[in-house]
Amino acid sequence: MIDLAENYRKVSDRIRMAEVNAGREPGSVQLVAVGKIHPASAIRELAACGQRAFAENFVQEAIGKQHELEDLQIEWHFIGSIQSNKTRQIASNFSWVHSVDRFKIAARLNQQRPADFPPLNICLQLNLQDEETKSGLSAKSAIKLLDQIHDFERIRVRGFMIVPKPVSNPSEQQAIFAEVKKLLEQVNSLGHTLDTLSMGMTDDLEQAVAEGATHVRIGTALFGPRPPKKTM
Ligand SMILES: *Cc1c(COP(=O)(O)O)cnc(C)c1O
Repeated sequence: MIDLAENYRKVSDRIRMAEVNAGREPGSVQLVAVGKIHPASAIRELAACGQRAFAENFVQEAIGKQHELEDLQIEWHFIGSIQSNKTRQIASNFSWVHSVDRFKIAARLNQQRPADFPPLNICLQLNLQDEETKSGLSAKSAIKLLDQIHDFERIRVRGFMIVPKPVSNPSEQQAIFAEVKKLLEQVNSLGHTLDTLSMGMTDDLEQAVAEGATHVRIGTALFGPRPPKKTM
């Protein structure tokens, strides 16, 4: 049996400790609980512990859970890869999208965000390790995309997200997070006002917080290992 309240305490303690060790203000890092593949009942249980921000990777799965949980005050984040035929549903069912990595997707989210909603918070997903197989922007293409979408009114670009390729030693992992932070400082010195670094997962949240993460996305340490995804 997974004790969600206990896991929630442990993860909250890890975040607090990492903040202290990095000399950062307590509470400056937000926990985003990643519920992919886990049932709505587990999310409900964690919400009862006080967790408010939840992230999902798959649109259909997310919308089903949102329906079941609509009595709760949850802030929903989308962190999965985005097909352009799903942007309308994403634009109208989430507060944050962390995984934008193409102009076309940003433009569609901007166009499809309902007019009576606040602007959609987005992060540009980076890939600084040149992985062919994973989505994400190089530093250069991220800067270019930022300039292209700068004046979009229905999306608000908040910062960067990264899922680094696992590397064997923690300091190498931390160096990637440091690069992300440097890029954020660089674009802000060019006139942007980004305030979000979405980085750090179950295995590397300490290194991410040390390099300025504002949002850590934690699944396994909260919900336990993910069961294999059912084929639908
Ligand atoms: C699944 C997932 C997470 C959570 O990963 P854990 O290692 O289980 O904490 C975070 N970010 C993204 C983009 C994910 O897909």
